[in-house]
Amino acid sequence: MVRMSHGTTDRFETRAIHAGQEPDPHNGAIMTPVYFTSTYKQDAPAQPRGGYEYSRTSNPTRTALQDNLAALEGGAWGLCFSSGLAATNALLDRLVPGDHVVAGNDLYGGTYRIFRRVFERYGIRFSFVDTTDPAAVEAAIEPTTRYVYVESPSNPLLAVSDIAVLAKLAHAKGKLLVVDNTFATPFLQQPLALGADLVLHSLTKYLGGHSDVVGGALIGNDPKLRDELAFFQNAVGGTPGPMDAFLVLRGTKTLHVRMERHCENALALARWLEARPEVARVVYPGLASHRQHALAKRQMKAFGGMVSFELAAGLEAANTVASTTRLFTLAESLGGVESLIEIPASMTHASIPAETRRSLGLADGLVRLSVGIEHVDDLRADLEQAFAKAHKR
Ligand SMILES: *Cc1c(COP(=O)(O)O)cnc(C)c1O
Repeated sequence: MVRMSHGTTDRFETRAIHAGQEPDPHNGAIMTPVYFTSTYKQDAPAQPRGGYEYSRTSNPTRTALQDNLAALEGGAWGLCFSSGLAATNALLDRLVPGDHVVAGNDLYGGTYRIFRRVFERYGIRFSFVDTTDPAAVEAAIEPTTRYVYVESPSNPLLAVSDIAVLAKLAHAKGKLLVVDNTFATPFLQQPLALGADLVLHSLTKYLGGHSDVVGGALIGNDPKLRDELAFFQNAVGGTPGPMDAFLVLRGTKTLHVRMERHCENALALARWLEARPEVARVVYPGLASHRQHALAKRQMKAFGGMVSFELAAGLEAANTVASTTRLFTLAESLGGVESLIEIPASMTHASIPAETRRSLGLADGLVRLSVGIEHVDDLRADLEQAFAKAHKR
């Protein structure tokens, strides 16, 4: 299924640039064309010329992206959606009333929202547990559980779960392990190789990488699962347009180069923050102080571009910092080349009830950084001037 001009044994960097993409056989164009077409000529009724009938079902630009993503995650197939949440939606469309999902308790706010406020209404049940604790996951699995759904590192507390252990545990009970790999990207972590059954992505983040497109994907190996999910992809119709697919493909070509700099900058800033007197707590999997640092070192190639921290002076100081940085833009989302800053409790995670946030250790004043690929000295100086303003008040 995965079209590759350079074979599956190629290294990540080579796959990023070539997998799913070949020069146009008709005119030699190097770049994958953006196939702006909704329909395709058929040679006879029900005999589509090139295997394409209608662009909700499939489109060649989307196919190129799906094959590229499958190769990057080491999967047999990929399916793309109009957003990360549309991918989550397709995953849940397979379930029926009474089915149950064991999910991490530190999830992307929109994932929590679609679970609780959309699919609970259809009789799907969710248990939220600390997935860094395999015993807690095991205890939560019920006979009707269909998925164990994990983010690692999680958002925004950057907890790292042991994917290989969770896969074994899920499989022992006949359940599927789904890993949201948005924060790590396939460059840093390959859940399928660790035993996961499905990988989910918000392509909006690092894979797109330039804050110019919204998209999602599911990647896996089981062909039966692919057919079921492809049915819902087409039947529900949350599919990306060809321009969106093109923009993500343009992003994946430089994923490895961007990630190296994201990780380098984030580690430098995390270390700097940890040494600052204004800062009470820094959360970054690359710091020795992180609770799962040893696991992160084993499971990931590097530690990612996301850093969370709390100021000793609390929420008001955090709000001032987030409003006075000049290079770090105050905005939701993450994973673009430019640095962003936000306050999860009042922004990306506002849909999680306050008591739940508190019980998770997600303080109202927690600051989340998406560290970009600018010069790290400029990023440090920017935080420093914002700290000075926050502590003058
Ligand atoms: C953004 C995000 C999503 C949702 O993706 P959208 O593209 O915004 O729909 C899911 N999981 C994680 C970890 C995310 O950061």
